[in-house]
Amino acid sequence: MTGTATSAPRAPFGTVFATTMASTTFDESGYGPVRLHEVEDFAMHPGAHVFHYASACFEGLKAHRGAGGEARIFRLDAHAARLRQSAGLMCLPVPDEKLVIEMVEAVVAANRDEIPEPPGSLYLRPTLIGAEVNIGAAGSPPKNGFFYVLASPVGDYFAGGMRALRILIEDEHRRSTPGFGMVKAGANYVSALRTVVAARRDHQADQVLFAPNGFVEETGASNFLLIDDDLVVTAPLSESYLHGVTRDSTLRLAARLGYKVEERPLSVNEVLTWKGEAALSGTAAVLSAVGTLIHKGEEITINDGAVGSNTLRLRAALTEIHTGAAEDPFGWVRIV
Ligand SMILES: *Cc1c(COP(=O)(O)O)cnc(C)c1O
Repeated sequence: MTGTATSAPRAPFGTVFATTMASTTFDESGYGPVRLHEVEDFAMHPGAHVFHYASACFEGLKAHRGAGGEARIFRLDAHAARLRQSAGLMCLPVPDEKLVIEMVEAVVAANRDEIPEPPGSLYLRPTLIGAEVNIGAAGSPPKNGFFYVLASPVGDYFAGGMRALRILIEDEHRRSTPGFGMVKAGANYVSALRTVVAARRDHQADQVLFAPNGFVEETGASNFLLIDDDLVVTAPLSESYLHGVTRDSTLRLAARLGYKVEERPLSVNEVLTWKGEAALSGTAAVLSAVGTLIHKGEEITINDGAVGSNTLRLRAALTEIHTGAAEDPFGWVRIV
C-alpha cells in the first residue's frame, strides 16, 4: 500500500500529469463503463459542442499522502455534489455521486505512488464536456460527451515562501452572471479574464476581487475572508459566486477553534477599513494572505502587508487534517 513517494515537481502548478486517468462517455442512454488508462489525447470533431457553446464544467480537489503512505482524499463528497450541481445548471447529464466517487478513487489508487510528500499533493480534475458534433445545437444541450478524471502531482504552492498578495477591487464589472457564478465552468473564467489581465498589467495585481454594486463576492478563482484574533467574516452564499469547499472548511474549522464566524454582506467600505487580516481560500493554495488592496487607484495596506498569524493558524489547522497530522473531527477525509 505504501510505495515510494515521488518528490514534488518544481514545474508550474497543473503542467505535470500523473500516469493514469479515468474516463467514460455519456449519450442519451446515460453514462457508459469507466476505463482506467494512461493519459492520452482523444480525438474530437472540430464541430464538437464544447468548442462552440462551452458545454464544460469541472472540479478541483486534492489527495494528500499520509504518514503511513495512505492516500487521503479531501472532501470528495462535497466536490462530487458541486460537480453534480454544475452539470445540472449547465444542462449536462448529472453523473451519479457513486460514479464520480468511483472514478476519483480509482485514479487516486492507480497513481498512489505518484502522490508527492506534503506539502505537495495530487491535484484531481474531474471534467465533463459536450462532444456532440452539431454547430447548430446552440440552443440544446449536447447529446453525447466525455467525463474524465485527470491527476496532477503538485508541489508546495508557496515554495518560494508565502508572499502577501496584491488584490485589485473591481466594483464595476462582474466576474460572471448572477445565476451562473456558482457553476464551476471554464466559461466563467474566460468571462473574467480581460479584467484579470488588465489588473495584472496596470496594477501588478495578483488577483481581482469582484464586488459588484459595492459588495464583495469572490476573486477570479478563490473566495475572500476577513480574519482577526476573534472573528472570521465572509460574504453569504449566493447564486452569483462559487461556493468554495475551502471556504466552508475554513469556516467550520474556525468555529471549532473558537472564532466567531459571520456570513453576511461585506461592503467594499468595510474591507477597506478592516483592521485585521484578509485571505483568499481555494483548493490550490488553501489560504493565502492578502497584503495590499488596490481600489480606484489607491493602495491600502492590510495587516502591515505581512502574512497574518490567524491566516497561518487556520491554514495549518486545515493542512494538518489533510495529511492526518491532526484528527479529522468532521469526517472530511476518505482514505484509499
Ligand atoms: C474553484 C473555485 C473556488 C474555490 O473553491 P474550492 O472548493 O475552495 O477550491 C473559488 N472561486 C472560483 C471561481 C472557483 O472556480
